[in-house]
Amino acid sequence: STVARSKLRVGLIPGDGIGAEVIPAARRAIEALGSDIPKTEFVDLEAGFELFARSGDALPEETVEALGECDCALFGAVSSPIKKITGYSSPIVALRKKLDLYANVRPVVSVAAKGAEDTKPVDLVVVRENTECLYVKQESQTTSERGKEARAIRLITEYASQRIGKMAFELALGRPRQVFTIIHKSNVLSVTDGLFRESVRSVPRLVENGRYDNVKIEEQIVDSAVYRLFREPQIYDVMVAPNLYGDIISDAAAALVGSLGLVPSINAGDNFVMGEPVHGSAPDIAGQGIANPLASIRSAALMLRHLGYTSGADRLERAVNEVLYEAQVLTPDMGGKSKTQDVLDEVIRRL
Ligand code: ATP
Ligand code: MG
Repeated sequence: STVARSKLRVGLIPGDGIGAEVIPAARRAIEALGSDIPKTEFVDLEAGFELFARSGDALPEETVEALGECDCALFGAVSSPIKKITGYSSPIVALRKKLDLYANVRPVVSVAAKGAEDTKPVDLVVVRENTECLYVKQESQTTSERGKEARAIRLITEYASQRIGKMAFELALGRPRQVFTIIHKSNVLSVTDGLFRESVRSVPRLVENGRYDNVKIEEQIVDSAVYRLFREPQIYDVMVAPNLYGDIISDAAAALVGSLGLVPSINAGDNFVMGEPVHGSAPDIAGQGIANPLASIRSAALMLRHLGYTSGADRLERAVNEVLYEAQVLTPDMGGKSKTQDVLDEVIRRL
């Protein structure tokens, strides 16, 4: 969905911990793209647990309003307090709702270092529905003669399943293999997962003149999908899943490629896209200047790709992959000795 823009306005929400180190790095990387993208304006915005501790508000109204004036945003991380704290709820969850970011898109790509080339590289993307399934959080508890009973409602709608399906098909079009796997458990949950599966399958019939004709549609029961993901991850290309299965599969897939500091994501809707590294605020290393900025830089690339800036996204991703391939300038999470700033400089040099 390329909309011609003369200017790109990017909201920056570093949030907590290493967010304050990796989001500025991603900003620098975007700035280094020059004429591959429109003139870019950055808007610094606040949210997070540290802000809540200071001000009593984790997601100020000004932040939400300012995002309404942006084309896209980069979000760092928020700490999740171990104990439930009165008045605090996760700003990222709230933002996904307010901006209707119904898809979580998480590519998992392996890049072997020079000399240790991987003959079967992993290159897949998990597309997770982000608004319904068990996450409608309608739980209840009752008591019967046998004791306590708890129930949770699992909501699946044709509408939400078709729109996530459409986003996944669009993503498949931009990929060389165009293999599309629907993840479900309709052998057991024939009504809910059956509707998900049927709705996603109906998407090609809803779009004009055979747009998705070359996409090879497959499907797999979620348990066997996880098994194959660990045995032969390279068979997968685009995986589309309802919320809970998508959550589990995307974390499992991230574990295939090593450091959390490498895995990017976007939260996307029809009117907004927000890049977000998969890692959290990493309080154990915050403030030391050693956080890996590559997940955030890759998130920026994904965000730009979603907006239609393919050449800018390609250049960013290529530069990151070169840094990984050369394996000379890496942060400690990847066994290196370099700082966040050194890795960023190396990415920019390769741009
Ligand atoms: P949160 O509550 O914010 O999720 P966490 O304690 O779970 O915080 P994570 O950010 O999820 O921390 O990270 C888990 C581990 O991975 C930590 O040891 C952290 O240092 C490491 N890690 C995460 N992200 C990075 C990164 N970008 N660079 C280096 N190490 C990282
Ligand atoms: Mg965490």
